[in-house]
Amino acid sequence: MTPDLSALVDSIVARMGAAEDRGQVASYIPELAKVDPAQFGIAIATADGRMLTGGDADTSFSIQSISKVFALTLALGKVGDQLWQRVGREPSGNAFNSIVQLEQEHGIPRNPFINAGAIVVADVNLGGHQPRVAIGEMLRFVRYLSGDDSIAINEDVAASETTTGFRNMALANYMRAFGNVRHPVDLVLGTYFHQCAIEMSCRQLALAGRYLMLDGRHPDGGRVVSPGRARRINALMLTCGHYDASGDFAFRVGIPGKSGVGGGILAIVPGRAAIAVWCPGLNDNGNSMLGTQALQMLAEATGWSVFSAP
Ligand code: GLN
Repeated sequence: MTPDLSALVDSIVARMGAAEDRGQVASYIPELAKVDPAQFGIAIATADGRMLTGGDADTSFSIQSISKVFALTLALGKVGDQLWQRVGREPSGNAFNSIVQLEQEHGIPRNPFINAGAIVVADVNLGGHQPRVAIGEMLRFVRYLSGDDSIAINEDVAASETTTGFRNMALANYMRAFGNVRHPVDLVLGTYFHQCAIEMSCRQLALAGRYLMLDGRHPDGGRVVSPGRARRINALMLTCGHYDASGDFAFRVGIPGKSGVGGGILAIVPGRAAIAVWCPGLNDNGNSMLGTQALQMLAEATGWSVFSAP
């Protein structure tokens, strides 16, 4: 029997508000270093159409790597399973921005959720067009998923990453040498940095994640992806969504989740809920410290898990 979700959300907000160790905000993207670490938000969209929110649930933040879920969904729509010739499906066991496996693995990134994999996905989404076309498509897609046309890109964050994204430039150039990035690197990174700079609130993000709890259906009745594809995207979120802490996240929380260095996490309980949490301070693996704790608290109290009977 599910406990009173609204009371649970309130107690999570109270607990997270009182937490002393909040981690560190990302500083390698200068714009993100300006974000106030005291903020915390949570939103839960349930399969029966309810929305529960708490804390700063309507404050927009940089979704960063959470965008990799939406970019992957679009790329699979364009090239289908051919994508897997260019990107793997294994957890990397390395940091999100690591380059070390690319040499031995001939420029094929381990999965679509580490930076190298997301850069290949951005190359696919570019599809011979200008970055503004691919970025426009991505923005329309997240607006459609969440039913909210106010979602926008923070150009200052995109510019900040464009001037400091040396590791991503290295990854993209390295994969271009193997022929696994096919467009000019500046166009691919322009696409990637702008998708990362999309700003959404927890409410908007939870709404956007509903197709992944509904076997690929949009709540308006439309189909976003097939049930099999939704299941596989969830599988990748569980195994790869938190980089080298994906195992720990599965152990502690037990549901698919995708984090971003802006401090957000999108988590999916198939058939039950799409959840977004946000707290800007990160742990050593670059995942939201209190966001993870909040999801653990929620999963323990509700019993939500992909590893136990419903
Ligand atoms: N834009 C960020 C980067 O490429 C995204 C990383 C993340 O959110 N983990 O470094």
